[in-house]
This record gives sequence, C-alpha cells and structure tokens, in this order.
Amino acid sequence: MPSPQRFAALQQIQRRRAVATATPAPLEELWARDVFTLDKMKAALPKAVFRSVQRTIETGGKLDLSVANVVAEAMKTWATGRGALYYAHVFYPLTNSTAEKHDGFISPKGDGRVITEFTGKLLVQGEPDGSSFPNGGIRSTFEARGYTAWDITSPAYLMETPNGVTLCIPTVFVSWTGEALDKKTPLLRSIAAMNRQAQRLLRLLGETEIAPVKSTCGAEQEYFLVDSAFTALRPDLQLAGRALFGKASPKGQQFDDHYFGAIPERVQVFMQDVEQQLYKLGVPAKTRHNEVAPGQFEIAPFFEAANVATDHQQLTMTVLRNTAKRHGFTCLLHEKPFAGINGSGKHVNWSIGNASHGNLLDPGRTPHDNLQFLLFCGAVIRGVHSFGPLLRSVVATAGNDHRLGANEAPPAIISVYLGSQLEDVFNQIREGRPQGSASAGVMQLGVDSLPEFAKDPGDRNRTSPFAFTGNRFEFRAVGSNQSVAGPLVALNTIMADSLEWIASQLEAQLAAGAALGDAAFEVLQQVMRDHGAVVFGGDGYSQEWHRRAVEERGLENLRTSADALPVLRRDGVRELFSRHGVLSPVELESRFAVYSEQYVLAIEVEARLALQMARTQVYPAAVRYLTELGQALQQQQAMGLQPSLAVRNQLAALLSQLNDSCDALEQALAQPAHGEGDSHDPAMAHLRHCADGLLPLMARLREAVDGLEGLVDDALWPLPTFAEMLFIR
Ligand code: ADP
Ligand code: MG
Repeated sequence: MPSPQRFAALQQIQRRRAVATATPAPLEELWARDVFTLDKMKAALPKAVFRSVQRTIETGGKLDLSVANVVAEAMKTWATGRGALYYAHVFYPLTNSTAEKHDGFISPKGDGRVITEFTGKLLVQGEPDGSSFPNGGIRSTFEARGYTAWDITSPAYLMETPNGVTLCIPTVFVSWTGEALDKKTPLLRSIAAMNRQAQRLLRLLGETEIAPVKSTCGAEQEYFLVDSAFTALRPDLQLAGRALFGKASPKGQQFDDHYFGAIPERVQVFMQDVEQQLYKLGVPAKTRHNEVAPGQFEIAPFFEAANVATDHQQLTMTVLRNTAKRHGFTCLLHEKPFAGINGSGKHVNWSIGNASHGNLLDPGRTPHDNLQFLLFCGAVIRGVHSFGPLLRSVVATAGNDHRLGANEAPPAIISVYLGSQLEDVFNQIREGRPQGSASAGVMQLGVDSLPEFAKDPGDRNRTSPFAFTGNRFEFRAVGSNQSVAGPLVALNTIMADSLEWIASQLEAQLAAGAALGDAAFEVLQQVMRDHGAVVFGGDGYSQEWHRRAVEERGLENLRTSADALPVLRRDGVRELFSRHGVLSPVELESRFAVYSEQYVLAIEVEARLALQMARTQVYPAAVRYLTELGQALQQQQAMGLQPSLAVRNQLAALLSQLNDSCDALEQALAQPAHGEGDSHDPAMAHLRHCADGLLPLMARLREAVDGLEGLVDDALWPLPTFAEMLFIR
C-alpha cells in the first residue's frame, strides 16, 4: 500500500483520459501555417524588395533600411491579421535556453486613439535589457546594453497560446561593442568560415560554379515523460530535472520490451499534438518512437540548414515541454533523470553541402576514387583528432556527465567510427593509393516475396561518440538538454581549419608541379599517418579501449566537465576560434566562465535540494518507521518471542549514514571552493570542488536514502518510486 499522497497521485492518473486538443488536418493545411515563409513574403512584397531580401538570405550582407521598412509592414499586416498584438525578438543566450523580449505593436496617437506600428528598425534591431543574462564578464553593468538583430536566414513565426498570438523574430544577441552574447552569432560565423575554406578546396579540385557551402543538421531528441501527478511529489524532478534519489525498479529495461514497442495511447496523442504544432511552425518532424528505457521516447526531424535546424531544435524543446503539461505529463529533457537506466542524448547528424555539389560527405558507390569525398572526409578525421578534447568540452554539462561514459552512452574519449568499407579505404590510403572499395552486397532474406535490401556498406556502431552513418557524421555525445549550436560551432570550425590546412598543402604541391591526384593522395596519406589514431571501429564501451585509447593512441579521456571545460582555455583552441573569426579570445573566455558557472550552479542546487529532501522527507519517514518497528519488536519480546533485529539494525545504520552525509554535505556547501584544485584560480577551484567534493558526498547520501527506500514501510514512503514513475501512465 503506497503512502496517502502517492495513492492520491495514482488515483488521479487512473482517471486521466487522452486529451484531444488538435483537430487532425492534412499536412498541406498545417505546414508552415504560422511561418512568414519566403512564399508569403513573395506574395506580400513588391518584386524588387523581395529580390533584395532573397539576395541577403542567399549571399549574406546588410539589409537596406528602406527594404526592411517594407518587409516590416508586410510582416505586421500578416501577423496582426492572425490576431497578433505583440512581437518578440527571440534569442539564444549561453544558457541553452530560448529568451524573448516582447513588445506591443501598439502606438498611441495624441488624440487618445491608438494604431499598430512596426518599422524596419524595430524589425531589424531590438534592445533587450541584457544585464541579467550570463555574459561571462564581457559587459560590466555600466555597459549593460545588449542588442538583438534579425537573422534574416531564419523566418519569423507566430506563437499561439489559448489567449492570443505573438509574432516571433529570430535574432542574434550582441553587446554594444559587438561581442557575441549568444549561441547563434558564432554559429553563423562558423558556417561562413567553413564556407570560405570549402570554396577554396573545391576550386583547387577544378570546380568553378560553386554555390555557398552550408552545414546541415538533423538532431534526434530523446526525452522522458512522467505523469505530472508524480512530479508534483518530487521536488528533485521539478527543480533539478532529475531524480536525486530513487532505488532501481525491480523491473527496469532488461526485457527490452519498450524499445520500438507500441506507443501507449496517451503518449501517442501527446506526440500527435506536438507534431501538429511543429508542422504549423514549419519544423519538419519526421520520426517518433519509444526509446530503450521505459518512459523514454524520441522525436527526430528531417535535416535542415544548421542555423535553421538549431532554431527549430529550440522550438521543439519548448513545444515538447509546454505540450506535455497540457497532457498531464512532465517532459524531462535531462540527460540522466533516472540512475540505472538509459539516459537521453541528442544525436547531432551533421554534414556539409551546397546547391551545386550536393552533400560533400556522400561517398557514392566507390569511395576510393571519389577524391572530393575523400578530402572532405579526411578533413573531418584530421579535425576530430586535432580537436577531440574541444568536442568533449562542447558537450560538457553537469547533466551530460552522468551519461557520458556510463554503459549506454558514448565514452568521454572522442574517436571516429567510419564503418568497415571506409575504414578499409582509409587504411589503404595510409599505405599508398587505394585499389578498391569493398562492396556492400545484397542482403538475402530467404523469402521470395520480400524485396532484396541493399546492405549498408558500414554497419552501425552505437558505442562510438562520432560515427559516419552513410552520408553524414552523427555526433552522439551531445546531451538531450543542450542547444545544438555549441557542437555545430565546434564541428564547422574544426572543419574550416582542416579544409584550410588541406587546401594549403594542395596549393603548395600543385605549385611545385604535382598532378592533382598525386598531390591529394599524398595529403590524405599524411592525414592518416598523423591523425589515423582517432579512427576506431571496435567497442567504445570496453575497458580495454579506455586503456588503449589513452596509453597507445594518445587520446584524452576527460571524464568530467571539470576536466573538459578548461580545454576552452587552451592556446590551440583560442587560436582556432580567433583565426577563423568565430570567437575572439574575450568571447571564448566568456564562454568558459559562463559554462563553468552553469556547471557549478547546477551541482550546488542539486546538493542543497538533496540535503533538504533527505532531512525533511526521507529522515522523518525513516524515523517514524524505526519507532514503529521498535515498538513492534518490544511487543514481540514481551510476548516471549525472539524477533530478528536485522532490519532494525540495518535501518539504524543507514539513518546514521544519512545524518553523517547530510552534515558533511552541509559543511562542504558552506565553505565552497577551498582546499581542492588550483587555489590561484577561483573558477578552477570551484569546478573541482563540485566534481571532487560535492558529487561524491551526494552519492554517499543517495546510497543511504536508496537503502532506506528498500526497508521503510511503503505506506510511509513519501516519494513516488521509479517503478511508479516509469511504468504508470
Ligand atoms: P537513426 O536513428 O538511424 O540515427 P534517424 O532517422 O532517427 O536515424 O535520424 C537521422 C537524422 O539524420 C535525421 O534527422 C535525418 O534527417 C538526418 N540526416 C540525414 N541526412 C543528413 C545530412 N546530409 N546532414 C545532416 N543530417 C542528415
Ligand atoms: Mg541516430
């Protein structure tokens, strides 16, 4: 029998019915209904104005204010026609969240009447009071101004609530001195940097008509759904997004019966609601399914240009969270909400390509003689080897640390998986010119009526943090709660760097009279000799790899964020970002400061919360049970029985572990950042204090609490259990 509050939650859940909120409609009707698309612009704008907008989108450059005025008027007419009274500049601060500054279209006329007004200037530039966004020391309060500027490559859209509509304008967010305070500005810069170098290489390969090269991204989002009647009883899920305590459920994911199983009806209704909203916003949601852990699901879109995909990913997280509430769920985007079962990642599928050449990471059927592909793929290998620690640092968050290196997620060691066919081609290159590509062949299913499947030339390797998957790379170490912007910035920038290096090598060889093919293979051979150590096709989870990667291949194993974040301060990384014009040294240092602070804050909040829950929820329940048990044992003794004291003794021992751990944690929280680490550097000392001081104490406290959960009378236990939260909906 569960405790009264859990029983009430269970009853509430039993009464729930799937909520139908959206009337099903055909895709054509839903698609981009709430987006001010190019088509809508074209219909609304004079031809010359539209062409000018199109030019700006395709080739970059400034939007003329006179053009902006006309666009603003058209946008306002469209939005107010749909009932919008307000517009918002939407931007992406360094916190992984989405921020908005809302303003009314209202403009008073002197005579007491009002009109709606929206000028080009208001469209193109906003001025939110940015002083309370983390900026890592870029601005002091006397220069607290922040500006938002319209990112014309990402379309404006409407956000609907039951009471109205807001016009949302995607923007970049910069300080008055022009420093990037957001995640979008460096993303746009990194795409430009990669384009410059890709153009250079393509020209060397003899190409002349080259469209702008862009990076593409398709991000798979994993998440958990827990009934909100349960979350209401779990302060940890509400405030920290993860269960700080909780004994593993007797039934976990061992039956593998959830993965790709039939989706429960209430969840499917939720998913359909999410998809309809996303379609209206022009987000191309494409797949939905159950994930490995009970209560875990995934949504993935069709891939798009990286900066649009990034905006759409942020929207997807917002829509998931808000829609879950309406359906009586809490959507947990945390990387490890429940210890002991799978965590959630966000696989970032990434490639580069353009309109004239298509996907530049598509190997075709015979990769060994596809020089263009080999050079671009070689650039990736070189980049990941040279900057593996950077790739680790851009996925370093307090939440993701619980997942990386655990037995279901990629290790913290960054290596590249190519698949057997490509690995073979690149191994041949190391020795000389490749002779052929192992062909994939055809899969025989043994049933005549079934079609023959062409086999993928490389199998999947789920244990690799960075895997080639046919025509793109999949960065699997990204956390489910993260913005994809940071990882994309790193990928584009290391790509720019490698392409630059390759282009320079080729130029030198060609100038010395070498033939293009010979020069290219020579460069590729050098890439493989210097950087081939990063290519690994085996089991990334194995202890053996962890040892060999470090000892034999010289790869770094940066286990925690406290180890990984300082990579942002390395000379090579600073030089990389400033040389390619993506982040100045000041901007980079500010990112180190903000991400370190986020890590520290996350852990300190968790520590305080664990302390409070242990003392005010767990301790009282355990003591009450100990008292009851003591009385029962006494009665038994009085009756002349000899009861076993085992449970009582275990309980008493766990209670004293709980008390000791609470005291120790309280002390550690009271005197932060002393003792451990480098005392000359407060930021580093604070990081280490969290990683080496607070987390182990929290683990010890958790051990006591979870032990008690296994002993205390269920009727007294205040917190919904893992079994309840994961299996009941
Ligand atoms: P899996 O679960 O097998 O990894 P999914 O279909 O769930 O595959 O997700 C694959 C993702 O990769 C999708 O978002 C897809 O659109 C995306 N993708 C496909 N081609 C590219 C590309 N060229 N660049 C970026 N992403 C791509
Ligand atoms: Mg995937």
